[in-house]
Amino acid sequence: MTIEQVSPSSGNQPGIPDLKIHIVGAGMGGMGTALALARQGFKDIHVWESAAQLGEVGAGINVPPNLARILSEWGVLDICQAEGVVIDTANVLDCATDKILTSVNYSDYMEQEYGWPFTTVHRAALQKCLVQGALNSGVVKLHLGHFITKYDFDNTRFQLGTRDGPEGEWVDADVIIAADGVKSKAREAMLARVGVVDEVEDTGQAAYRIMVRRSAINEDPELLPFFTGAQSYRWIGEKRHIIAYPIENHDLFNMSTTQPDRNFVQADTWTAAGSKTEMLQTFHDFCPRVQKLLQLVPEGEVLEWKLRVHKPLPLWVDHNAALVGDACHPTLPHIAQGAAQAIEDAAALGVILAKVGDKADINKALRVYQAIRKPRTDWAVNTAAENSKGLHTQDKASRDNAFSQADANGSNPDKMISRDVHDILFKYDVVKEAEKNFDRLFAQQ
Ligand SMILES: Cc1cc2nc3c(=O)[nH]c(=O)nc-3n(C[C@H](O)[C@H](O)[C@H](O)COP(=O)(O)OP(=O)(O)OC[C@H]3O[C@@H](n4cnc5c(N)ncnc54)[C@H](O)[C@@H]3O)c2cc1C
Repeated sequence: MTIEQVSPSSGNQPGIPDLKIHIVGAGMGGMGTALALARQGFKDIHVWESAAQLGEVGAGINVPPNLARILSEWGVLDICQAEGVVIDTANVLDCATDKILTSVNYSDYMEQEYGWPFTTVHRAALQKCLVQGALNSGVVKLHLGHFITKYDFDNTRFQLGTRDGPEGEWVDADVIIAADGVKSKAREAMLARVGVVDEVEDTGQAAYRIMVRRSAINEDPELLPFFTGAQSYRWIGEKRHIIAYPIENHDLFNMSTTQPDRNFVQADTWTAAGSKTEMLQTFHDFCPRVQKLLQLVPEGEVLEWKLRVHKPLPLWVDHNAALVGDACHPTLPHIAQGAAQAIEDAAALGVILAKVGDKADINKALRVYQAIRKPRTDWAVNTAAENSKGLHTQDKASRDNAFSQADANGSNPDKMISRDVHDILFKYDVVKEAEKNFDRLFAQQ
């Protein structure tokens, strides 16, 4: 990852600039929080990450307007969008006939209504802009290769370790932000203290993540528009769908599937290998264009994992520690808000922690963070889960009827492209909300 210069400081001065802030996890939520806090003027920020290096892991990810607004405010949107694709049209199609059920023209309203376009990028580009912004501040220290499992929330500290277990020194902090993703150890530890077992809900769904490079299609005129265009496609059928869009300057076509978990996939990581033969079998009745694309996926580059969710958590905060992102609200990909909600958390924390003038108030401030963020993320988690039910129905006649009545300016059966959902998600300015509500909520804690 090359680090270029960006201007990370907003010139602000937080209540306690030398607060010792330790963040666990250098994903979207963790690096986002580091950048948000650096921009607020905090001087002592550490990020602890289990991976030995941050690289090109992952595939396509969405940068919707509510996320673009924050990245733009932080001065890093250009880095993220440099290789992205601005989506002008979102299509939903019948998986077998390839017939368009609904088409929403984003270029008609997305930027005009919400201020920013809807962009698709490689996850590495989004991570890069956050890492670059954070490290260029000069106040964020990134520590790679530390797997943190052991927390002492009463004393705001955690023990360094590796995947073999905790073994290193204890790190003392004023604030701990745990952004350790969907399999969060911090969440497990926090819930155990209030007698709640950290149970994963099995959705019964699994996903393949696959990509085709333009050089592989040999300029096939049937497939070329997928690369040269700026459209997203969601092919839907009973219990399954594939969502696809171009990324990386139109050079990669990214496809992400959802299907019943017939293989009882054990893996829930983004790096577990799946079988190309089984993937082809799972989607054997999808239309010829899709079949052609799936055939072109290089052998050995099919990744498969279980889709998991958690019931909304009873709490996100314990003493001076708080959870962020997938650690507290893992969201199914069906409304494309996983990264955006994690980074909204980060932006909210930036505003809120900057208002703390006395270390004794940190816990209260973190509870304000939870009060501001939880209703919105609970809603996003539920909306994403509900969306797949409608898309995967076996009642095709009702489904097609509903799509035929979709209103370009109002509701759409696919919530990801529905204007009423866009209004809720994209008009929201998390920084303004945190500023507006802080005093009232702080007084209530
Ligand atoms: C490797 C990887 C690839 C992904 N690829 C995609 C993709 O292609 N498309 C997509 O839509 N979403 C992808 N995601 C998920 C997406 O990034 C998240 O759903 C979303 O952005 C929320 O961000 P987060 O910061 O909460 O979690 P994440 O982005 O998952 O970040 C969590 C971070 O914490 C680290 N971590 C976990 N446990 C520990 C621990 N015990 N100690 C220290 N560090 C720890 C992880 O290595 C990771 O860097 C991927 C996640 C990962 C980890």
